Amino acid sequence: MKPITKTQLLINGDCGCEASPQDSASRRHRLNQSIARLAKIGALPNGGVKRIAYSQEDIEARNLIKHWMTEIQMQVKVDEAGNIIGRYPGKNPDAPALATGSHIDTVPCGGHYDGAYGVLAGLEVVRVLQENQIRLDRSIEVIVFTDEEASMIGSKAISGRVIKEPNYYLRADGTDINTCLEKVGGNWHNIAQARRSSQDIAAFVELHVEQGPVLESMSKQIGVVEGIVGQRRFNITVKGSANHAGTTPMQMRCDALVAASQVVLAVNQIGKTPGQQVATVGKMQVLPNAANVVPGWVEMSLDIRDLSSLHIDSLLEQLRIHLENIAVATNTQIRLNPCLHNEPALAEPYIQKAIALSCESLNLSYTYLPSRASHDAQELAQITDMGMIFVPSEMGVSHDASEYTSPEQCIQGANVLLQTLMQLDRYFEQQ
Ligand SMILES: [Zn+2]
Repeated sequence: MKPITKTQLLINGDCGCEASPQDSASRRHRLNQSIARLAKIGALPNGGVKRIAYSQEDIEARNLIKHWMTEIQMQVKVDEAGNIIGRYPGKNPDAPALATGSHIDTVPCGGHYDGAYGVLAGLEVVRVLQENQIRLDRSIEVIVFTDEEASMIGSKAISGRVIKEPNYYLRADGTDINTCLEKVGGNWHNIAQARRSSQDIAAFVELHVEQGPVLESMSKQIGVVEGIVGQRRFNITVKGSANHAGTTPMQMRCDALVAASQVVLAVNQIGKTPGQQVATVGKMQVLPNAANVVPGWVEMSLDIRDLSSLHIDSLLEQLRIHLENIAVATNTQIRLNPCLHNEPALAEPYIQKAIALSCESLNLSYTYLPSRASHDAQELAQITDMGMIFVPSEMGVSHDASEYTSPEQCIQGANVLLQTLMQLDRYFEQQ
């Protein structure tokens, strides 16, 4: 038998490239089997998954992942933030590792792929290396981050950016963070010890479903993520004056909702100017909110995201001018109060290049795109070099039971992850 060389190494879907999603052969494949197996934990009658962080289901899923890790001789540890870290030692075990991974907690009615796919593809990469008796120069770590969906506390602990106030992490049911972390093997009081650095993680690559429609609409198989967009959130208040809806003549009104409506349109217009930004008003409260009263007060949200902080700054400057004009025209006062400021997390060009080269070697079509959703990778980017790989999401749907990526697409993404890690290994070996 011919020995498998590193470049020939593939996660084989047994299904060929023409397999339909219904293809039973492709479903038999180990990666897709493990996705289906994990989705049974917390399965909902509508086909979705409910596996909230720290729940019984989350703990059961964590145990299964740890079991799978030990089956392939990974060294398994759980850090103070409850992150599961499986390590497949390299020939040079003291050198900084190559890390991958994602999360296995879900939103209250999530799908099979968000997060879970990245973790299970990471395990499949190690399985393939292990069964072909291949050790890379660098160790590979597969990390399962704690509570990505609600707080990202796991990846924030690794980046050293956990919010120090424990009440910030109080659960809706009143459970405190230490109780939560103890359930998954962590410890709030020692959470600072979970911090890592580029001294022990050379690079982190997260594989994830796109959760948007871009790849599918462009008929591309793989997304090379340029970075995770920065996000600014504001609370916009519009102060007019409430008055009788019957007796106040139209020209004598200070109608806060009329002004707010123009603000919504201005935000939408800013979002549609050339560029990759998105801008949204998603929430609005009207006072006194009565049919027979001219609205006197409106409060609403503004969410604006882009890969470039400078670009966001310039869009906000344009928006401020619009708001001043609207305030004058409607005789209202409009204020923009900042409430969230997340800087963009850019993917390292050499990792993007490794992903693109992997796609080329596998004959997969790809495009570059930003991630407009948050991911654990944005925290890892604070301490080490980061990259992300996307696979298409059917109809762009995510955080829903109908979330779907075909078995074939899952295998393609896992192969890109495998090739990318091997390329990065060579890259670091040559440094
Ligand atoms: Zn996710």
